[in-house]
Amino acid sequence: MPQGKLIYLDNNATTQVDNEVLQAMLPYFTEHYGNASSALHPFGWRAAEAVKIAREQTASILAATPEEIYFTASATESINIALLGLYAQCKSKRNKIVVIKTEHKAVIETCIYLQSLGAEIFFLDVNREGLIDLKELEQVVDDKTIAVCAMWANNETGVLHPIGTIAHIAHRFGAFVICDTTQAIGKVRVDVSEAGVDIACVSAHKLYGPKGVGAIYVRRKNPRVTLPTYIHGGGQENKLRAGTLNVPGIVGMGKACEIANTNLWNYGSQMSKLRTALEQVLCTHHHAFVNGSMRNRLPNTSNLCLKALAIRKKISGMSHIAVSTGAACSSALSEPSHVLMAMGLNREEAINSIRFSFGKFNTMDDVFLVTDFFDKIKKEA
Ligand code: PLP
Repeated sequence: MPQGKLIYLDNNATTQVDNEVLQAMLPYFTEHYGNASSALHPFGWRAAEAVKIAREQTASILAATPEEIYFTASATESINIALLGLYAQCKSKRNKIVVIKTEHKAVIETCIYLQSLGAEIFFLDVNREGLIDLKELEQVVDDKTIAVCAMWANNETGVLHPIGTIAHIAHRFGAFVICDTTQAIGKVRVDVSEAGVDIACVSAHKLYGPKGVGAIYVRRKNPRVTLPTYIHGGGQENKLRAGTLNVPGIVGMGKACEIANTNLWNYGSQMSKLRTALEQVLCTHHHAFVNGSMRNRLPNTSNLCLKALAIRKKISGMSHIAVSTGAACSSALSEPSHVLMAMGLNREEAINSIRFSFGKFNTMDDVFLVTDFFDKIKKEA
């Protein structure tokens, strides 16, 4: 373990649980431990009421209605429910799924699995900014397309996709829009109705909530979207996903959404100040460059190529600064990021790129400590 202060700049991988969230959850482990499906006594009623409130809070961050929210165990599970469910339901009439090459592995790997079942998966290219060509999208979506799968914000670069326009194109051909909003909620305003999203996937641990809880939004009106049962059993979550509800986790997710929604603007401007300060130093003193669009990105994420410092070789000396070289689930691999490679970086640029992702608990002192570290390794070189 490194000595001294550890600086956490890996908030797109996961976040510290907010104390207010933890306090909201605790009574549901001990005092109010009822099963939310127990309809005959106050223990059950109390748990069901807590889930009801959490459903409203979670709906609110997406500008959805509570009836459109189903709790799951993760965004990965929500993505599986969406893709596998729509494919099973539509495959006799439609067979194609259009997906952006820089989607999270939860989407890519599920699509590759569907390909093995006979689905046609079209992977959309991105440009150097990480953005798709909307004309290409218009050409590949057709009346055989089940869904276009596009993330609101990319987890590695923070790049924001024009979901409203993507949805407009998809809907012209009767295709659904599945949107992974995992990294966007709590960082930018997300309105699934306004954007025309049909299914959205979210996770609690990216916004100061607990791990092991997620949700899926399924549109109820204009059009009503239905999904087949994903987990069979006691019929919980309106028969979509059976299993006793994780009440403390769900309460935590709801609270985390409520706090994030109320403070959206404050957190965003606080994080973008820190990000700007970091980029100013690293880009001017260390010849770093930003990977991805500078105009359309999350306020907290900075993916920087630090080739000039040959940072990959020095990363082991950086263990007191928690950053990432890709998505958390693949950053242990030595392979360059599929996102950066899809954006046209060469292998050397990709492996010398680092994702810094700020969170609401970071301060300017963290930025100073990081920039001091980079100044030091430059001097030592
Ligand atoms: N989608 C995106 C964009 C993510 O960043 C992540 C987490 O890394 C996931 C999906 C998966 O989320 P979970 O950890 O809840 O499965």
